[in-house]
Parts: sequence; C-alpha cells; structure tokens
Amino acid sequence: MVDSQDMVKKVFTQKSARIDTNKGEEYYNCLFENAKQRISMLQKQPALKDIDMIDVIESEGINRRDFMKWVSATTATLMLPPMFEPLVAQATELMNRVPVVWIELQDCAGNSEALLRSSAPTVDDLLFDVLSLEFHETLQAAAGHDADRQLEEAVEHFKGKYLLFVEGAIPMANDGKYGTIGASGETFHEHLMRMSKDAAAVVAVGTCATFGGIPAAAPNPTGAVGVMDLVKGKPVVNIPACPANPANMVGVILHFVLTGQIPELDSLLRPKFAFGYRIHDNCERRAHFDAGEFVEEWGDIGAQNNWCLYKVGCKGPMTFNNCSIIRYNEGTNWPVGVGRGCIGCSEPDFWDKYAYERPMANANIKAPTGGVEKTVDEFGLGLLTATTIGIGLHAVASAIAGKKSEQNEEE
Ligand code: SF4
Ligand code: SF4
Repeated sequence: MVDSQDMVKKVFTQKSARIDTNKGEEYYNCLFENAKQRISMLQKQPALKDIDMIDVIESEGINRRDFMKWVSATTATLMLPPMFEPLVAQATELMNRVPVVWIELQDCAGNSEALLRSSAPTVDDLLFDVLSLEFHETLQAAAGHDADRQLEEAVEHFKGKYLLFVEGAIPMANDGKYGTIGASGETFHEHLMRMSKDAAAVVAVGTCATFGGIPAAAPNPTGAVGVMDLVKGKPVVNIPACPANPANMVGVILHFVLTGQIPELDSLLRPKFAFGYRIHDNCERRAHFDAGEFVEEWGDIGAQNNWCLYKVGCKGPMTFNNCSIIRYNEGTNWPVGVGRGCIGCSEPDFWDKYAYERPMANANIKAPTGGVEKTVDEFGLGLLTATTIGIGLHAVASAIAGKKSEQNEEE
C-alpha cells in the first residue's frame, strides 16, 4: 500500500517550492547603481509632506539602532543583499516623495484597519504617517464634496506619478449598481477605471481587491471581481491576504522609491519577495509535519504539544505568503502560532476552496491553470493533485479503520 504521508512529504519538500534569491553579482551591482541615482534624484525633489521619518520614529521611542535593525530585516525581506541597507535607510526617509492615492470599494476596510490597529507601532506602521497619502477616504478628515475635490486635485496634480492603492472588490453585476460612490453615483467600476488611468502603478491591497475575496465567494451575487480583471495596460501589483500585511505594503512602496519600479511579480501579480514561497516552508510546526505528528482533533495531545495542524485543516502547504516569517500585530504572532490552521486567505477563491476545518480530500479544487508562474504553477499543480491523493488515501485508511472499529463494537 502507498504511504500517503510519504507521498505528501515528497511533494511538500520538493525544490521547486523555493524561489531563486540570488540573481548574481552583476545584477545586484547594476541595481545598486540605479538605486543610487534614483535616491539622489529624489533627494533633490521637495518633500510632498513635511514630516521627517526620523522625528516620527523617535517620537514613538524607536531609537536609531532599532531603526537600523528594521532596515536590515526589510532589506532581507525585499531579497536584496546587505550592501543595499544604506540605500534602503535613505529610501525610507524619502517615502514622502511618492504620492499615494487610496480608494476603497466593496470590502470591510480591514486592510485600512490593519494599518491603524497597532498599539506599539512598528516602523512599517509609522511609515504610513510619513507617506504622502494624498487621499484615503476612511482615514482623512474631509468628507462629501470636499473629499471629492481633494481626490480630483490629487489625481490631476500628480498625473502619471501616483501609486493608486485599491482596497475592495469591484461588483460588476447589474451594471455595477451594487456599488456606487459620490453624488454622481459613479459605479465602483467607473471610479476604478478613472482613478487608475493616470496612476504610475495600481496596487491591489487585500484579497477582495486582488482576487474578489469574500464578496466573490459562491454564488457571488454582486459579480465581484478583482482589480487585475479590469485594469489593463499598466503595472498592477497584488498584495493579497485578509488583511494584507502592512509590512508587504511598505515593501512594495519602498521598492518603488528605491528603484522607480514595481518589484518582481509571479503570474498572479504578487511580489515574489513576499509571496515567492509557502507558509509551510517556514512554519514553526514544520518539523512535526515531517515527523508525521499531527493534531487529529482540537484539544488532543497533538494540540497540546503544538504539532502540525494539517489534518485539522491547515492550508499552509497550498498558500504562498510570508506570514510565518513576518507575522501580524507588530510581529506578535500569526494564526498557526496560536493553534489555528491557515485558511489560505492570500490565494484566489480561498473562501470557497480553503476556508474550512478539514484537509483537502473532499474539496472541489480548481487547480491553477494558464499563465501561472513556473515554479508556483509546477509546484501548485503537483501539490494539489498529490495532496488530494495523499489525504484521500489517508481518509480511505481512516474510514476503513473507523468501519473496523464499528464492526468490533457491534461484535
Ligand atoms: S501547521 Fe500548516 S503550515 Fe505549519 S507545517 Fe503544518 S501544514 Fe504546514
Ligand atoms: S496564515 Fe494563512 S489565513 Fe492567516 S493571514 Fe496568513 S495566509 Fe492568511
């Protein structure tokens, strides 16, 4: 009989799950020179917002040494070698040179909330104070016609230069009438197309904006879709998760400040620095997975000993994200750390495919097809198939064991 654990292990540990983090000396030297020129160009430009980064972090009790530690961690997160650290520090102080316009569509505002929630803010959180956030209807004081005017002015003034952050899905059913904005009743779709027209790049934040998220869950009555389904002909970056991690938002902006370009993306348009590997690859419970030690039900001996949560539904092996490294809430913890499996919130269709407390065997899995980035694609297809088979075998074995014990009881 095939050992399902061996089969699952083989697939989950294959090399293609890891992305290439070293592009060679020539590549980094060239990028370094470009970044230096970009920084010196930005230094000559006037700040769009008169707030000094160092003053802000010092006012929160973060000293220069802590800041440099953050710089070093962020440089590594962006998959850049240590020689970039001084440039990342300078870029951080220049974040107020890049205008950001943030619009909110069909969502719960959880991504905006993730930015605000910190009680002891990290440098990532504080950067949003420094950032030239030209418009954010949830956070700003202006309302009604004043807010409309502020938005129009920002888009006009920073034509071709601003990053458009989009939070929320776009309802397309019933001619988009499920979501309208402003006195004119512009639909979310029309609003997105108008706002993105003159943006330097569009950044979809959170799983609703990237893949439709919960609004798009079956039967998707509003016909919700993500930004990349609609915005064409300009760079779109997806930062999925529910909510997106502020550190990944900062990473994308910092990369743009540093290089003038968006970071390298996978075919689902997610930055590889954050979504190039799986939660499972860096999970603190991974050794238990490899050792075949699983939580079988809540509260059992495995749960008490922090064993792997796969059999109670963890979708970490199918989910590309860096939560297991950077964590949430000021880096305090993350779902698996507190004993709850990952529900795959940064993957397309996660609510229908992954968000339940059982392994994949009974799931109606739509494997990723067409244009999926090679390593992810190769890996994803193999993984989903083998996982289904592996856990299916396990389920069959469990069912047989269950039947036997029923028989024994009857006897
Ligand atoms: S808890 Fe989830 S992510 Fe962690 S090792 Fe187990 S299956 Fe992988
Ligand atoms: S652990 Fe999984 S469900 Fe939780 S935030 Fe990360 S990707 Fe989403």
